[in-house]
Amino acid sequence: MLQVSHLQKSFGNHAVLNDIDFEVCKGDVVSIIGASGSGKSTMLRCINLLEEPGGGAILFHGQDITDPKVNVPAYRAKVGMVFQNFNLFNNMTVLENCIVGQVKVAKKKPEEARESAIRYLRQVGMEPFLNAKPRQLSGGQKQRVAIARALAMEPEVLLFDEPTSALDPQMVGEVLSVMEDLAKQGLTMLVVTHEMAFARDVSTHVIYMSEGVIEEEGTPEQIFGAPKSDKTKEFLARFR
Ligand code: ATP
Ligand code: MG
Repeated sequence: MLQVSHLQKSFGNHAVLNDIDFEVCKGDVVSIIGASGSGKSTMLRCINLLEEPGGGAILFHGQDITDPKVNVPAYRAKVGMVFQNFNLFNNMTVLENCIVGQVKVAKKKPEEARESAIRYLRQVGMEPFLNAKPRQLSGGQKQRVAIARALAMEPEVLLFDEPTSALDPQMVGEVLSVMEDLAKQGLTMLVVTHEMAFARDVSTHVIYMSEGVIEEEGTPEQIFGAPKSDKTKEFLARFR
């Protein structure tokens, strides 16, 4: 459903992404691993049009998303994103955070949006906090709300950029377990992560990025069990 081909991106004369090629099919859970600065976030941001791709193409169901005719908010509802720092609306309650996009972008009726928000908040275990403000929540709780908010848009793909990196260690598990449930339910996910156990045990496919290129990709068994490239081996050795 999502095809990235020959994607390039530079900031000034610094080439950050170089000829990135891969495909995401329905139900895939793709983990993207790689060192800091290798271009993982930039790639996700290009896919979500938070950065303008510098070259190549990104096709969603065959349509180039950089076409000026594409309705960007509607596209972002289909290809949602969860950020390291949650990006919740701090002046709104948990429930309002999960309603606003459904009403404003997806044009749902407020009552229907409310019901669906509650359903997704229940799914991530945050139903008891409907009227809380983000500042009253722990990091893990905020991230679960951010996931419910993204799910309420009924995305076809969810992009996650290091969703657990800003969390205290004791909260990482609660967010990973929500993500694992989503994977089991068949949600298509593209996850930038340093959680190697998640990449190994939950994903269907792993992409290792190094210096703006895909150095190696394959199944978790291939990447973790029998990596081919020396750079991949060296990177993975840091997590042993
Ligand atoms: P990390 O694991 O630290 O999050 P990353 O793999 O996500 O790293 P990116 O954030 O994509 O890496 O950054 C790749 C390179 O692009 C880095 O050298 C970074 O400094 C540079 N970069 C990213 N965003 C910008 C920007 N808006 N302007 C200039 N340079 C940028
Ligand atoms: Mg990053």
